[in-house]
Amino acid sequence: DPRLQGISEAIRVVPHFPKQGIMFQDITTLLLDHKAFKDTVDIFVDRYRGMSVSVVAGVEARGFVFGPAIALAIGAKFVPLRKPRKLPGEVISEAYELEYGTDCLEIHVGAVQPGERAIVIDDLVATGGTLSAAIRLLERVGAEVIECACVIGVREVKVMAEELLDSVGSMASHF
Ligand code: 5GP
Repeated sequence: DPRLQGISEAIRVVPHFPKQGIMFQDITTLLLDHKAFKDTVDIFVDRYRGMSVSVVAGVEARGFVFGPAIALAIGAKFVPLRKPRKLPGEVISEAYELEYGTDCLEIHVGAVQPGERAIVIDDLVATGGTLSAAIRLLERVGAEVIECACVIGVREVKVMAEELLDSVGSMASHF
């Protein structure tokens, strides 16, 4: 896709953030570039328009930047998947492993109806742990998760997903 180069160039890489050795992919510079930002949203919209997706679930926090724009354009609702103790209503929680310790994503009870077709949006996939938790959460409330989509993927993750696909099948097909 000819739009990818401009998008890639608009993402700033910040070495050693938030700690030594991490090459942080910073999407805030992408948001400053109107064309690159619009192209990013359009690529998702091109893919999901006409696929009867009624739920765009965004992962806190940067999934909240891209998800709502995609939801509006494809005629879906936006559902935030939030970190613990942020959502005021009744929630369902799903824990996932971090490098050190665990974290959790939560969804409001009633935000998604059983059988709804959902996609999950985030800015970046690294190990896939966050997206896997998002899939589990949505499936627990009865959604059919069609796909997960991120702005930034890491080559190693693609290889890992392909290996997973060989060994377990359905889960890796989400990536
Ligand atoms: P995973 O669960 O796939 O290992 O990590 C993905 C999560 O970590 C995403 O929610 C993403 O926002 C965040 N993340 C990890 N590294 C980076 C990074 O370099 N840049 C950005 N923007 N987010 C990151």
